[in-house]
Amino acid sequence: MKNDHITGVCVDLTSEGKGVIKLFNETIFVDALLLGEKAEVEIDYRSHGVAYAHIVNLLEKSPDRIEPRCPVSTSCGGCSFQNTTYEYELAFKKKKVIDALHRIGHIDHEVNDVIGMDNPYNYRNKIQVPFQRNGKDIIYGFYKAKTHKIIPIKECTIEDKRAASILSTIKDLMMSMHIEPYNEDNRSGVIRHVLVRTSYHYDEIMVVLVTNCDSFPSRNNFVKALTQAHSEITTVVQNINTRDTNVILGEKEKILYGKGYIRDSILGINFNISSKSFFQVNPVQVEKLYSKAFELAHLTKEDNLLDAYSGVGTIGMIASKQVKSVTCVELEKSAHWNAIKNAEENGIKNINLINADCTEYLINSDNKFDVVIMDAPRKGSTKEFLGALKENSPKSIIYISCNPATLARDLALLIDKYFIETIQPVDMFPKSFHIETIISLKKIN
Ligand code: SAH
Repeated sequence: MKNDHITGVCVDLTSEGKGVIKLFNETIFVDALLLGEKAEVEIDYRSHGVAYAHIVNLLEKSPDRIEPRCPVSTSCGGCSFQNTTYEYELAFKKKKVIDALHRIGHIDHEVNDVIGMDNPYNYRNKIQVPFQRNGKDIIYGFYKAKTHKIIPIKECTIEDKRAASILSTIKDLMMSMHIEPYNEDNRSGVIRHVLVRTSYHYDEIMVVLVTNCDSFPSRNNFVKALTQAHSEITTVVQNINTRDTNVILGEKEKILYGKGYIRDSILGINFNISSKSFFQVNPVQVEKLYSKAFELAHLTKEDNLLDAYSGVGTIGMIASKQVKSVTCVELEKSAHWNAIKNAEENGIKNINLINADCTEYLINSDNKFDVVIMDAPRKGSTKEFLGALKENSPKSIIYISCNPATLARDLALLIDKYFIETIQPVDMFPKSFHIETIISLKKIN
């Protein structure tokens, strides 16, 4: 029954970091319960044979439990490891990779310790928050998991520190200039979301106002007041989204201030980032991720490199100095166009930028690659791509993945022709349950 109280010990963790209590007749997933802890828990609901619960009374506390830095860590749903030491979080992430490879790919191979961050806070270079009216007040924050109820935040501990005061000013200006936040129920109001992107290497910040309409009263004064209060803002973009949708950004945009994009760099190569560009959110760890991937790829000046699922071309462009040629293949048109501009601005000549589906490209390509770096999306690659990859027969494959489950599935299709040299997780998303993994594969001769 709902509201049942049960006492038990946490013997395992789910892939999302929830504690697992096993009773003889039932498995219970408990929010914020750490390995080894004993607690009285209350069942919230049951689904598919599993009970979901929260802690009512913590009876035995783990030495890895710490005080969260964030006041809304239990309600916001964004973070799973605010209440643990970083060592505990990294150990969980390593085990998550080991378990997925074993369970889904039937692969048992040594996994290196996760490469973590020295300071696992304030790393995110992109934050997007919804705005809503709440009585006399305007609030912004994150949606509580599976709802459209906003948990207000003043400062998020994983976002770049510069974003918080900008958001606070935007709220104050909306109040004083009578600019209404969007109302989902009757689809009235102006500001739906605000997105702030910060550059790590340059003093550049972009603010994107996602609005429910083309124009709104006091727009010029609003932008003027915002950029005067925050001279660190270098560009303001209005994105228009009039649709009744959960997708944050609409198609149409207007540049209200500055260039409409910001610049950042990774390992010495500059990239222009617009409101919609995919760009790695952790600027500190991305350099460690790519450096490790290149080290494991053993790139040489003789190599023709394929950068599959290339986004705005970050991996290919950074690697271009170390290889003979690089081919980047990306499906999204806008990312592909960004890549062309980025390659031009960085003066990179030995690069071939292709706007295509990776599977179709590789099946139909006559090019022979020596090394392939593939950075597949969460859903992983395709059987056909992996088949064509084995046909192409590069000496080395580096698979970078943000989803251990699809990585394990895909890997199982490669290991008849390739052996695993190294499995290296990198923590790109501290405090969340997500983990990025690099796998280096070498051809079996
Ligand atoms: N390597 C890049 C981007 C990785 S994200 C970086 O590190 O920044 C994965 C990318 O794969 C996204 O840009 C997405 O648009 C692209 N993608 C998804 N499915 C694809 C497909 N079938 N073919 C080509 N690209 C695809």
